[in-house]
Amino acid sequence: MKTLKHSLLTLAVSAAAIMPIVGCTSTTSAGVVGADRKQLLLVSSQEILQLSNQAYAETINQARRAGKLDNNYEQVKRLRKIADKLITQTEVLRPDAKNWDWKVHTITSDSINAYVMPGGKIVFYTGIIEKLRLTDAEIAAIMGHEIAHALREHSREKASRSFATQGVLQLATGALGLSSGQAQLAGVISQLGLDLPHSRSQESEADKIGLELMARAGYDPNASVSLWKKMQATGGSVPQFLSTHPSSTTRISQLQSLIPTVMPLFQGTTR
Ligand SMILES: [Zn+2]
Repeated sequence: MKTLKHSLLTLAVSAAAIMPIVGCTSTTSAGVVGADRKQLLLVSSQEILQLSNQAYAETINQARRAGKLDNNYEQVKRLRKIADKLITQTEVLRPDAKNWDWKVHTITSDSINAYVMPGGKIVFYTGIIEKLRLTDAEIAAIMGHEIAHALREHSREKASRSFATQGVLQLATGALGLSSGQAQLAGVISQLGLDLPHSRSQESEADKIGLELMARAGYDPNASVSLWKKMQATGGSVPQFLSTHPSSTTRISQLQSLIPTVMPLFQGTTR
């Protein structure tokens, strides 16, 4: 406990001093799609991973207890095969990522959703695969997008933003209660803004990088557009995945404008 307290307080003292420097970092190289936005990173990766790994383990255990984890073996195998191809390609953007402890699981649910937690912990709800009848390339489009969030450490960036705005003392107090239960964990996660949707610029960045990853992995980048058209067609009840993400018309046009840039990467894999 003392060590954690010490490191958080040290962080508090040094944050203001180093802000101009860390504000100029970027967790990945820009790729052919030119994702070169500078990031404000005041909280360490380790601090974020400690929190999110705990939350992830809780999610997975809950699903297992409810009999909803990885129920369709063939489906999980299919997802992991696609993930492996994409993860191999992360090296271009971020060399350390291929050594991460990547995980891919399904949770049985009608919900049209998929997400990633920091450090590469991917979850697909069965609803998104089955209801949208996703092709491998469309799954790769979603997964590439989610992997991009992890590579760019978008959650760490969100936490850094609330760290800067909310004040350090509050954050340190929250994190100190970490081992004493789930309520505290949930409290720290919401205090850090980790439960909030990603920002628009993070979403558009994840789309760009995801597109490059899928093309490099040998999936036709046009599938990203067919995916979003399927999302749009779900109509009436706005799917969760869509509601936490910006307008699908905007993202479809961004994706379409970038397809010529990444097409040579895809064609290089099919030759
Ligand atoms: Zn996203």
